[in-house]
Amino acid sequence: MKERESIIVTGGAGYIGSHTIIELLQQTDYNIISIDNFSNSHANAYENIELITGKKITSIRLDLCDKDAVSKQLNSLNNIAGVIHFAAFKSVPESMADPLLYYHNNIESLINILDFCKQKAIRNFIFSSSCSVYGNIKDLPVTEESILGKAESPYAYTKQVGEQMVDAFTATATNFNAVILRYFNPVGAHISGNIGELPIGPPTSLVPIITRTAAGTIPKMSVHGNNYPTRDGSCIRDYVHVTDIADAHIKALQYLINQKNKNKLSLFNLGTGRGVTVLEAIDSFEKISGLKLNYEIGPRRDGDVEAIYANNNLAKQELKWETKFNIDEMMRTAWKWQQHLSQLKIN
Ligand code: UDP
Repeated sequence: MKERESIIVTGGAGYIGSHTIIELLQQTDYNIISIDNFSNSHANAYENIELITGKKITSIRLDLCDKDAVSKQLNSLNNIAGVIHFAAFKSVPESMADPLLYYHNNIESLINILDFCKQKAIRNFIFSSSCSVYGNIKDLPVTEESILGKAESPYAYTKQVGEQMVDAFTATATNFNAVILRYFNPVGAHISGNIGELPIGPPTSLVPIITRTAAGTIPKMSVHGNNYPTRDGSCIRDYVHVTDIADAHIKALQYLINQKNKNKLSLFNLGTGRGVTVLEAIDSFEKISGLKLNYEIGPRRDGDVEAIYANNNLAKQELKWETKFNIDEMMRTAWKWQQHLSQLKIN
């Protein structure tokens, strides 16, 4: 009997990684190997994945920046149909405070995993990128053809450099194809309420801060600036449900495996195409929860771009990807997850 092929998911215990594993287990028949060092995630994400899907995965605890450990611990893996590389740090403010941490972690891990792909002659690779690579771009919505602006944070810069590395490697590697996915702002949680975003330490992203403020674990939150030239003065982002983002990975993987790609390297924006201000996001949360959020207007946050949202036509056409969740559903699932955490007295 032919051995079942595997997909390696790096950062599989993390927010987007865990939701993607759920979709992989539900939509495909691959054996899933998750590699994570739990630096910003919890190993019990795997139990929650099993609870939701009824399926088990293989977990390898490993720091992908450790080249020796990568060769040693991954050497025995074979029959790998593809790698989805999520493992990275992703906070704009944290990267402003500690840029070297970001350069070190996000770049070295990428070098090592690409090297591993080369050694094992893996053919299909998906790289998590971010709309932050566009910088402060004036011409909205952004398309994949938009010229990248200056990176506004070390985090954004690691994604620009990461994309260039994947591009250069793909161009030279035979039988290697890659998809770069530029996420806009992934938010929300699995509809079951059994898995969601759970960073180690205080959250820096808007939606977990909103839900924790509503739950009372954050006393008061701040809207970072209301004097931007936008419709209500607060920043605009393209919030997109994490399950929609996860689903795009299955589609991107099948696109590569079934050789539907026109080029060795493909690049897709993953956003809904709709810009939402911070104040509109708060309104949506208040509407779905029936609660009044305790917030104040604060100063601008360093590293923030004023407004960004996607033109997602290419992902629609090429990957046949459609977003299914709107902002209210994003908030509803995030709130359900927060209530689950509150019940467990986790946050
Ligand atoms: N934001 C805010 N208050 C917070 C956290 C975030 O007003 O406590 C704003 C932030 O300034 C940005 C938007 O919410 O305009 C989205 O920020 P997030 O960190 O979630 O994602 P980013 O777009 O920075 O990756």
